[in-house]
Amino acid sequence: MQRLLFSTLLVLLPWISQSAGLADRVNPLLGTDSKRSFSHGNTYPAVATPFAMTFWTPQTGEPGDGWIYTYQQPFINAFKATHQPSPWMGDYGDFSLMPMTGQPQIDWRARASSFQRSNEISKPYYYAVTLDKYKTKVEMTSTTRCGHLRITFPPSQPAYLSVHAHPRGAYIRLRPQEKKVCGFTRANNGGAPENFACYFVMIFDQPFSCAGMSADSLLHQDSQEMAADQVFAFLRFASGQSVTVRIATSFISLEQAEQNLAAEIGDRSFAATRNRSRALWEKELQRIEIQGASTDQEITFYTALYRVLLFPRIWYEFDAQGRMLHFSPYDGQVHAGELYADNGFWDTFRAVYPFFTILFPDRDAEIIRGWINAYREGGWFPKWSSPGYRDCMIGTHVESLVADAYCKGIREFDVQTAYEAMLKDGTQLTDQGGYGRTGLADYMRLGYVACDKTREATARTLEYAYDDFCIAQMARALNKPQDEEIFSNRSFNYRHVWDPSVAMMRGRLADGSWGPDFDPFEWGGPFTEGSAWHYTWSVLHDIDGLIRLMGGREAFCCKLDSLFLLPPKFSVGHYRREIHEMTEMVACKMGQYAHGNQPVHHVLYLYAYAGQPWKTQKWVRHACTTLYGPGPDGLCGDEDNGQTSAWYLFSAMGFYPVTPGTPTYVLGSPLFKKVTLHLKNGKTFTVQADENAAQNVYIQSVRLNGAAHAHTWLSHADIVKGGILHLRMGNQPNTRFGGDPQAAPYSFSRAEGR
Ligand code: CA
Repeated sequence: MQRLLFSTLLVLLPWISQSAGLADRVNPLLGTDSKRSFSHGNTYPAVATPFAMTFWTPQTGEPGDGWIYTYQQPFINAFKATHQPSPWMGDYGDFSLMPMTGQPQIDWRARASSFQRSNEISKPYYYAVTLDKYKTKVEMTSTTRCGHLRITFPPSQPAYLSVHAHPRGAYIRLRPQEKKVCGFTRANNGGAPENFACYFVMIFDQPFSCAGMSADSLLHQDSQEMAADQVFAFLRFASGQSVTVRIATSFISLEQAEQNLAAEIGDRSFAATRNRSRALWEKELQRIEIQGASTDQEITFYTALYRVLLFPRIWYEFDAQGRMLHFSPYDGQVHAGELYADNGFWDTFRAVYPFFTILFPDRDAEIIRGWINAYREGGWFPKWSSPGYRDCMIGTHVESLVADAYCKGIREFDVQTAYEAMLKDGTQLTDQGGYGRTGLADYMRLGYVACDKTREATARTLEYAYDDFCIAQMARALNKPQDEEIFSNRSFNYRHVWDPSVAMMRGRLADGSWGPDFDPFEWGGPFTEGSAWHYTWSVLHDIDGLIRLMGGREAFCCKLDSLFLLPPKFSVGHYRREIHEMTEMVACKMGQYAHGNQPVHHVLYLYAYAGQPWKTQKWVRHACTTLYGPGPDGLCGDEDNGQTSAWYLFSAMGFYPVTPGTPTYVLGSPLFKKVTLHLKNGKTFTVQADENAAQNVYIQSVRLNGAAHAHTWLSHADIVKGGILHLRMGNQPNTRFGGDPQAAPYSFSRAEGR
């Protein structure tokens, strides 16, 4: 009887029978309870395949607003094709659709409909919602470059669908005889040449008639073609039916969009597209198996993995002959080969790319080939790509990606050209902002960026010094001793912004004196979205050198302790108002530790360099359990293209890449009893944490493949050759583990004896 009941349920509720998979553990709504003044992630529920060229999302915000979908908004006004990497960067190539019944509406507020959470399903591969106002159900699924939507209209009501090509140059043509709509939009927020467009082709399975077009608020009844700043088209369908539309996108041409549609969807049904997308996610998510996690932890973990596998996005397409092509946002031409877009390297170099090197090495190499093509086409590596060069944040961190991949044996890219681009970043002056190093002339002449001449000067100095370390690592690997000498020396430039009188990193003037009125709690000025309390730790490649500046291991640990003991106070500095990262620091309840922003993402791991790794274990576990959750408010600041998620993935697995560009990971406190990584080479690496529990956060002993392991770090080779890291956990620190200086992780000055 019980068995009969169960199998009957499976038949009646196919959703339940499918929901055993990991893709159904992902909650794309995680992080959507965000607003401009406070970010719980600033995410939107992207329906997408991994690294997809185009994502699909419901829209609750005003068209063009970066906050596309926010959990507190009870109205949906469109379903949108999006390429947005962050609300702060805005969207490009975006267009939207909206079903309506009754009178067609142009105004987004007038057409918006309420919906019930109980009628909303959000998965990586599928989104569904019923619009109360129109009694219409909308479902979305997708492929890499195409969307597949199903709209079920209610009976006996006039049924409309609006297609909106967003502003900055738009065109739509209706072809009712062919059940087709095509067009383009030049919508962008920068980083795109004049001839940039996102082309789209929509093919419907039901006939429609033209109900008119509009460029403003007036409906032109007889139009079937229109070009304007923005264009709306209204299609009318027979009422009471289900309409399925296959939508292709291309950055190359309408013809290429047709080609993408033929290649990715063809004649497949909506269910077939959905099943394929689900299978793709299942395959990638299964690369990490976790045991001993609660349901909430599983949701948090696999949603983090989903976020890490969204960016950067594929920007290449395949022509009818199967050749890989891309439109270049750097020179406006179509070229052969790979291209990726949408990445803030200031965020992602820290943990996203190191994560790729372990589990997605082929993808890592392909992405780097894409950035090398960006250099070939635009003359420089990007600093913030969306889709081309954007002037945002600091540092030239593609250098880190290259050095990190190379040192881990991932070399399927043009290493010489990559090195040439790194050298250019490190030596050629430009104040363009979208690429290169602002303030480089001073940096080379004085050994630091002068804070009276360049804003965010000390943060730049610290990050340039790390980037120089990455160049030096590559110079050594490529046997270029002169370069190695120059950039190794420059990697010590962090010392030039250390002021011993305040024992912190500080702004320094061109004449060598220190910036006036030092306030360690003041954000901005010589720093970027942080204060001296945050940036003083930004010596990613030489923590030992930093320990010496601070007067030794005890003093270093004391200073780290005070980071958590201090009140979360701040002064707003040059921002002149409280920016959301400040508010989020207060909400973290970890003193001055501001996990909501990236500059401190390595800091909890630094005790492991100074003989007190149990404090790393304590704080990492604390951050994992208090700053991450499974719901719409599940993050403590901007997610940022996978970086905040990658921090969690690494930390939950038990280790973290403090120094990308070296094949090393620092041990923390694994969150689960067991984590198994299924590597591309067929091997598995397992982290087994016996007696792990909420209060048992401390490592008692470590064995690697059966042998005692005294170090507070792992090598990349330890992981990728497969094996077992066997920990025993307990509720008291084992102060004997990791106390010896020889047990500490990599530091440049110690490795080089300087
Ligand atoms: Ca951030």
